[in-house]
Amino acid sequence: MPRDPKHDILFEPLQIGPKTIKNRFYQVPHCIGAGSEKPGTQAANRAMKAEGGWGACCTEYCSIHPESDDTHRVSARLWDEGDVKNLRHLNDSLHKHGALGGVEMWYGGAHAPNMESRAVPIGPGSSASEFEYLTFSHEADEDDIKYLINLYVEAAKRAVQAGFDIVYVYGAHSYLPLQFLSKYYNKRTDNYGGSLENRARFWLECLEGVKNAIGGEAALATRFAIDTLYGPDGIEAGDDGLKFVEMVDKQGLLDLWDINIGDIAEWGEDAGPSRFYKAGHQRPWTDEATRIAKVPVVGVSRETSPDDMAARIREGRLDLIGAARPSIADPFLPNKIDEGRVGDIRECIGCNVCISRWEIGGPPMICTQNATANEEYRRGWHPEIFTKTASEDSVLVVGAGPAGMECARVLGERGYDVHIREADTETGGRVRKIVKYPGLSEWARLQTYRQIQLDGLKNVEVHTGVGKMTADDVLNYGAEKVVIATGSHWATDGTNSITHDPIPGVDASLPYIATPEQVMMQGKDIGDNVVVLEMDGYFTGISIAEYLRDQGKNVTIVTGLGGVAPYTHFTLEAPNLHRMMHEKGIKGITSSWAESVSEGELTIFNLYRDGYKRYAEPVTGQLPRDAGTHVDIIKFDSLVVATGRIANNSLYRELRARKDEWADNDIGGIYQAGDCFAPRLLADAIFDGHRIAREFESKNPQFAQPWIRERQVWGHETYPKLTDRETQV
Ligand code: SF4
Repeated sequence: MPRDPKHDILFEPLQIGPKTIKNRFYQVPHCIGAGSEKPGTQAANRAMKAEGGWGACCTEYCSIHPESDDTHRVSARLWDEGDVKNLRHLNDSLHKHGALGGVEMWYGGAHAPNMESRAVPIGPGSSASEFEYLTFSHEADEDDIKYLINLYVEAAKRAVQAGFDIVYVYGAHSYLPLQFLSKYYNKRTDNYGGSLENRARFWLECLEGVKNAIGGEAALATRFAIDTLYGPDGIEAGDDGLKFVEMVDKQGLLDLWDINIGDIAEWGEDAGPSRFYKAGHQRPWTDEATRIAKVPVVGVSRETSPDDMAARIREGRLDLIGAARPSIADPFLPNKIDEGRVGDIRECIGCNVCISRWEIGGPPMICTQNATANEEYRRGWHPEIFTKTASEDSVLVVGAGPAGMECARVLGERGYDVHIREADTETGGRVRKIVKYPGLSEWARLQTYRQIQLDGLKNVEVHTGVGKMTADDVLNYGAEKVVIATGSHWATDGTNSITHDPIPGVDASLPYIATPEQVMMQGKDIGDNVVVLEMDGYFTGISIAEYLRDQGKNVTIVTGLGGVAPYTHFTLEAPNLHRMMHEKGIKGITSSWAESVSEGELTIFNLYRDGYKRYAEPVTGQLPRDAGTHVDIIKFDSLVVATGRIANNSLYRELRARKDEWADNDIGGIYQAGDCFAPRLLADAIFDGHRIAREFESKNPQFAQPWIRERQVWGHETYPKLTDRETQV
C-alpha cells in the first residue's frame, strides 16, 4: 500500500550540523546490554532498525574513560582502540542502510560505581550518589575540571575514528554535566558554582572542546533533562532549563538538542511505564524547548502513532521523533508507515521489561512485544523475515494465549498449515486478565498485534470458544505436529516459593478465598476487608490490591519479600507504585508469610523470627537455630492468594503418557510453549513460542539450538595489552 500523504512530513530529510538525516525517525540512545564488548550484538540490533527505516541510531550511554564504569550494568565504552574497532563495526553496519550513527559520551561522576575499573570518579562535589550505594566522587579542583574536559575531547576524537556521525555530550539522567549545572549537586563557590552562568560553565566548556575535537566531521548533540522534576531544588524548565538552552544556542555550539526530563534515581519519569504515563507525556516540556531552540530538537515520549508523530513535526513542536522503546518493539516502524502498513506496527506496551534487564545488570535486553530483540546476531533472527519451511506438516496449537499466538504466528509466517484452538471465547490468555488491572490497558497490544497478524495469514485458522481439548481430541485432530500452550494458573491452595508447599487452610473453592483469576475473570464476591497474600514480586499482587482499593475495599498486602513488588524497581514502576499505595492507603506487610488460614483470620510470621545464631553442632529433627514461635493474626473478609503460579500441564502429561499412540495417529512430535512448560515472564513465554516456531525442524524444538556467545576466546588478541600502560587521555 502507498504511504498515507499525511505522513509524508515524517520522511523529509533534515540537516543536523554537517550531517543530513534521511527522515525524522531517530533512535535515541538506549541500553541493550551489548556495549562495546559484544560488537556483533550491538551492530546487528541497531542495524536492524536502520534496515527498518530509522534515520539515525545511537549507542547506549558510552563511557569515555574507566573512571566512568557502570559495571554491573553494561554501557558502551570508548576507552581505547579496541572499542573504536568494535564500534566502527556498528557504524559500518548502520551506514549500509543509510542511517547515521550516534554516540552518547558518558561520564557518570558519583553515579558510576566503577566496580570493574576500581577507579575513583570525579564530580563537582564529594557527596555520595543517591542512585548507587557507597559511591562517592572526588571533588574536582580547577585542574581536575580541565582533565575531565580533556577526557571528553579525547573520547570525541575516538568517536570520529569509529565513524560516528553524531557525538553527544550526555548531560541528562543526572550525569556529570548536569551535576555541575544543578544546584542539587553543585555546592561550589568557585567559577564553576553559584550563579547559572558559573554552573553552566563546565558543560559549555565541554561542548566547546568537543566541537573543536570533532572538527566538523560529526554533528554535536547534547542530551539535556530540561526539568529534573525536583522543583526549585533542581533544574526547572521554566527557570534554569530554558535559560540553559538559550545560553548554549547563543554560543552556537550545538547541532542538535536531545531533550528529556527527570533524573537517574527515578528515571521512570523519563522512560515512563504505561501504567503511569501514556504516549506523549513529555510533550509539554519538549514543546517548550523546541519553541526557543535555534537548532533541531529530538524528544521522546514513547510515540507509536504515526498521526501523532506527523502532527508534532507539522506543528513545529519537534524536529525529530525520538524513540527508544517503540524502536525496540518494532524496528520496522518507519518502513511500515512508509509502506502504508500502519496496522502491522508492533506497538510498545510500555511494560519496561526491556529496562528491567539493564537495571538488573548483565543480561541482554529483551522485549515483551518483540521476541527477536537482541537475537538478531546471536540467533540470526530477523523480525520481519522468516525462513520458509519445506515441511508439509500441519500443526495444531492448543491455547491462544501469548505464547500460543506467537508460536502460531511464526509457524504461519513460515508457511505451516496451522490451527490454533482456544477453549475460551477470545484469544489473549492471561493478557485478558492483566488489561483489567489499573493502568495496564496498553498491554492489550500483545493480543491485538498477534490477532491482526494471525487474521492476515491464510494458512492459519483461529478457533475460539471450543472448550478444553482432551488428549483424545488432540490425538484424533489430524495434525502432524502439536504445540501445547495451555498457560498457567494461580495456585488455589497457597503453594508458594517460601515453603514450597500449600498453606494450611487455603482453598480457593471456599467463599472467603480467591485467586486473581477468580477476582478478575469470574467476578467472585470480595468482602470489604481484603488481604492480598503474594509472592509474585511483580505486578499481580499490587495491581489486584489497587483494583480492589479502587472499589472501596480496605486492602493489606502481605508478602514474604523484603518490599512490595520488588521487580517493579527494575521496570521503574516502583516509586510511583509506592506513592500510589501511600496515597490510596494500601498497607504493606513485608518479610512475612502465612502459617495458616481460617475463616476471617490469617496467621502470619516474620521470616526472620528464628534465632540469628546457628548452632555450632549438627542437630537432627529440628532447626539448627532457636526456632521462633511469634505469630500475628490479621483479620479479613476475603483473602486473595497470588502465592505462586502452576503450569497447566495436565493435557501434555496425559499425551506424554500415551506417547505410543502418537505414531498411530501420524503425530511426529508434541511440544510445550510458554507457561505450561514453566510459568515465567510474559516476555519469556512469548519468546518461547517464537523460538519453538523458528526452530521447528530441529531434532527437538522443545530445547533451544546453540547461539553465538560473544566473549574473548583464549589465544586471541586483547585491547589494551598489559604493556600498553599509558592511560589514553
Ligand atoms: Fe516496550 Fe515492553 Fe518491549 Fe520495552 S519490553 S520495548 S516497554 S514492549
